[in-house]
Amino acid sequence: MTYDSENIFAKILREEIPCDKVYEDDFALAFNDINPQAPVHVLVIPKGEYVSMADFTATASAELIAGFFRAVGQVARDLNLEQPGYRILANAGDDAHQEVPHLHIHIFGGKKLGPMLVR
Ligand code: AMP
Repeated sequence: MTYDSENIFAKILREEIPCDKVYEDDFALAFNDINPQAPVHVLVIPKGEYVSMADFTATASAELIAGFFRAVGQVARDLNLEQPGYRILANAGDDAHQEVPHLHIHIFGGKKLGPMLVR
C-alpha cells in the first residue's frame, strides 16, 4: 500500500491539526486517542511515512526503528503502566480494521483489559 500523505496522523505530524500530546522526541509522537477504549489509550506514531509495521520494519532506518520502540517503552514508563500492566496493539490492514494508514501502536491501560481478542 502506498502512503497517503493526507491521512489524519500525517496531518497531526505536520501540525496541521492538533493532538493531545503526551510525548515527543526525534523519532516518535504520542498522543491520547480521540475515542478512548480504556482509561489510558495512547497512540504512538513514528516520524516518517510508514503505513504499517511491515512497511516500517522493511524500510525505516535502524536508528528510527530503535528510537520508535524506545519511545513506546518510554511512554509506558512515563504513564506508570509497568505495574499494574498494560497492552500494546498495532492493527494492520482490513482484517484488523486499521482505520488510519500511518503505523500506530495503541497503548491501553488503567483497567483490567480482559481477553486479548473479542471472539
Ligand atoms: P486503527 O483502527 O488501529 O487504525 O485506530 C485508529 C485510531 O485512531 C482509533 O482508535 C481512533 O479513535 C484514533 N483517531 C482517529 N483520529 C484521531 C485524532 N484526530 N486524534 C487522536 N486519535 C484519533
